[in-house]
Amino acid sequence: MAHKFIDNYREKGARKRLVELLIKKGIGDENVLQAIGKVPRHYFFDETFWNQAYKDIAFPIGEGQTISQPYTVAYQTELLHIRKGDKVLEIGTGCGYQCCILVELGADVYTIERQEKLYQRTKQVLPHIGYKANFFCGDGSKGIAKHAPYNKIIVTAGAPFVPEDLLKQLAIGGVLVIPVGDEQSQQMVTVLKINETDYEKIVLDTFRFVPLVGDRAW
Ligand code: SAM
Repeated sequence: MAHKFIDNYREKGARKRLVELLIKKGIGDENVLQAIGKVPRHYFFDETFWNQAYKDIAFPIGEGQTISQPYTVAYQTELLHIRKGDKVLEIGTGCGYQCCILVELGADVYTIERQEKLYQRTKQVLPHIGYKANFFCGDGSKGIAKHAPYNKIIVTAGAPFVPEDLLKQLAIGGVLVIPVGDEQSQQMVTVLKINETDYEKIVLDTFRFVPLVGDRAW
């Protein structure tokens, strides 16, 4: 974790180039691109690795976990079609980068992480760098029933199937974005909740995530 939170011209320039790269890779949502252009991703890296922060790569954040690749964050966020005031559940807080992007887009974020150390660290760092969210520690494969329904749910770890609890906790008209597959690769799946019993599921591109570990997961 970076000990200094300084956003200087070098990092701002690198962030601008990252946005240009994401546009070339097919990200088209202006709001998502603006959010990526704003959130200082190097704040989630030790200062020694700041030169890695704006490469389009995943990177270790401790506890055997990773900060997701910027393209993956942009891809999942684009699929959520966040509107200001949306109540969003994120499963897999990690270091909190994806959470900051959602907050930049005006979402009211509920985020849950199963690793105690990551939860503690992120809960402290995010408000310190100006991002307010609701932090929880536990098994997110069951969602957080107490605060449901959610307009959007994003899962940032690879699941073996779509957990039923998450579908239940989605508001009517709400969208779930979740990578589903085996340990090697997962396909991005979006599920739109049409009414209490009907869903529209779309299967998209292939990614590789760390596993979603829990009661309704691996
Ligand atoms: N969202 C993060 C970011 O912005 O970079 C990336 C998260 S990392 C790819 C996936 C995270 O999901 C890990 O921190 C892991 O500990 C967490 N995780 C895995 N299974 C989980 C579960 N059942 N509930 C909550 N978090 C879980």
